[in-house]
Parts: sequence; structure tokens; C-alpha cells
Amino acid sequence: MRTRSIRLLPVIILILAGILFTYTESYARQPKNPKNIILLIGDGMGVAQVSAAMSLSEYPFNMRQFPFSGFSITYSADNYVTDSGAGGTAIACGVKTNNGMIGVTPDNTSVPSITEIAHNKGLATGVVSTSVITHATPASFVAHNSGRGNYEDIAIDFLKGTVDLFIGGGENHFRSRKDGKDLTVDLKAQGFDVVYTIDELIASGSPKIAGLLAKEHMPTILEGREGVLAAMTSKAIATLRKDKDGFFLMVEGSMIDWGCHDNDIEYTLAETLDFDKAIGVALEFAKKNRETLIIVTADHETGGLTIPGEDLKEGKLITNFSTKGHTAVMVPIFSYGPGAEQFSGINDNTFFLDRFLKLLKIKK
Ligand code: MG
Ligand code: ZN
Repeated sequence: MRTRSIRLLPVIILILAGILFTYTESYARQPKNPKNIILLIGDGMGVAQVSAAMSLSEYPFNMRQFPFSGFSITYSADNYVTDSGAGGTAIACGVKTNNGMIGVTPDNTSVPSITEIAHNKGLATGVVSTSVITHATPASFVAHNSGRGNYEDIAIDFLKGTVDLFIGGGENHFRSRKDGKDLTVDLKAQGFDVVYTIDELIASGSPKIAGLLAKEHMPTILEGREGVLAAMTSKAIATLRKDKDGFFLMVEGSMIDWGCHDNDIEYTLAETLDFDKAIGVALEFAKKNRETLIIVTADHETGGLTIPGEDLKEGKLITNFSTKGHTAVMVPIFSYGPGAEQFSGINDNTFFLDRFLKLLKIKK
């Protein structure tokens, strides 16, 4: 017995050394600074939306896998309760502006967004959304306009060349315009592959893609959009990662907000669970890539959702909305990857840009 243990000793030592090597190796391979950032924004997604979706999730909930979490304070320059214009602008450009404004200060001065700064430093950039791509959240990363509803003007800002890839709805804002212009002609002249279906998108091998997958907004999950945001996210990552300088990608789950505005819990949860699947795609990439920071957050909470209990007979949560509008409650931040710890604690929603630039080691 004793001789056998002694003989096994070198084998055990080798196994232990192997485990130690793999452990230190995997840590050593994660750099302090990310090369890429993927920011996922659940429009209107507060803690209650996350809690309810997590409780009902039939698979390991991706938002639960993040090692760090924090909170973001969302008020705008002119209102304790923000809209998505001011909320998106705070995240993208690092300034508080008035509700309804996109990429500008309250006095209508343009401020550069993370997308534009990253582009100027040679990174590839992209925005992905299930709403029209000209809608407040994605527009905050690309456009500058005092009015979030000026969709056709906002579409023109997508021709400025600061975004290499955009996928969402909104074909009409590029092609059925009051000025009669077809902006896809300009996009093609700039080297964009313009695609109109998810199959065309997946088949594209271009480093520059304009995906206009619906005339207006894309369908909701309940209308059959299931899994499309995850596919869009996957394609965006596969395309942008080819840039040797790294990339910045914003992915929006736009319709969580709309389900909450409707006080429709089924709509809200279907969209939150679908958004979580897109998060899973980003997380899977980051786990292998090791140079990618993933941030999941929201621009504000919508609906004042609460969960006062569960209905055991029905096997359902009891949920209540307290408003048809947005609320001022803090929203969650989940972070993973190099620099992730810098997003914990309670911070104003203007803090993202500064952190992103420091971590990417770039300046305005
Ligand atoms: Mg939005
Ligand atoms: Zn809203």
C-alpha cells in the first residue's frame, strides 16, 4: 500500500503542477486593459425586469454570470426622469442633456460619442438595435440632433463614416425620405454592404455592413423575432473583430421599454429573455477572447415594475406596473472582462465614457 502511494506521488505532483499551470496561465492571459468593448443596453430594463426574467428563465441566465455589478443614476439635465435620448447621450457622450436630445449638450453643442472617438483612433465600431437604427438609443452613439424624432436627419449622420456596422430596422429613414434621396446609394459608394434580411446579413463578408432588416421597427418577440438579436450580435462581433486595433460595439434590446410602456408583462419578459440571449453571445465570445470588456446596463427603468409575490396555482409571478412612463430608479450594471471591476458601485450614467476611454487607453 505504502510503496504504491510513493510510486503515485510523482504522478500526483505532475497533475497538480498541470492544474496550477492552467490556472495561472488563464489568469495571465487576461490583460489589464481590454482591446474590445461590447456595451449591451436593455432599454427600460430595471432590476425588477431582470429579477422576473431570471426567475422564469429556462436556461442558465446570462446576466447572472457577470462577476461584477453596480448601479447607474439616470436623471437627465432637465428632468429627474430621463428619456432614452438623454439617457443614451449620457452613456455614449458622457454628458447630461435635456430629454429628447441626441449627442448634444442642452445648448445644442455636439459632443463626441465613444463610437466616434474609438473610430478616430482606428477601432472598428458598430451599433445593433431591434428598433429603427435611427431611434434614440443607437442614434446617441452615431448622431447629433436637438430632436430625437428627426429620424431622416439622424439617418444622414450614419453617412459620416464613424460607424462601420449598423444593424436594425429603419429602412424607410434611409430610402423613403421627404428629400427623395436614397442614402443606401451613398452607403454603397462608401463600401458598405447594404442588406435587408437576416440571411443576407449572415452571408455578408464585408467589413462594413448596413443591415436595414425592417422598413420601420423590427417585429417583437411575440410577433416572431425570437433569437434574431443574438444572430445580429454574433454577426456584428464576427465582423468587427477582424480589425486589428479592436472594436467598440453597442447592442440594444430596444423593446423591453415598449413592453413596459404597455404595462404588458408577457411582452416585457419575452424581450428581456431575448436580450439575455444576445448577452450570452457576447459573453461566450469574451470568455474565449479574453481581451473584451462586456457591460450590460439600461438607460432608465420603465413602468415602475414590482414583484409583490407569486401565484403558485398558476405558476406565475405576480407583477405590478406603477406607471406607463419611465421612472428615476437606479438601473443595474453588469460587467465582465478586463477593467470590469471599475463599473461596480453607484455611479452617474455619465461615468461610462471616461472609464471606456481610460481602459482603451485613448483620449478624446
Ligand atoms: Mg431605445
Ligand atoms: Zn421609453
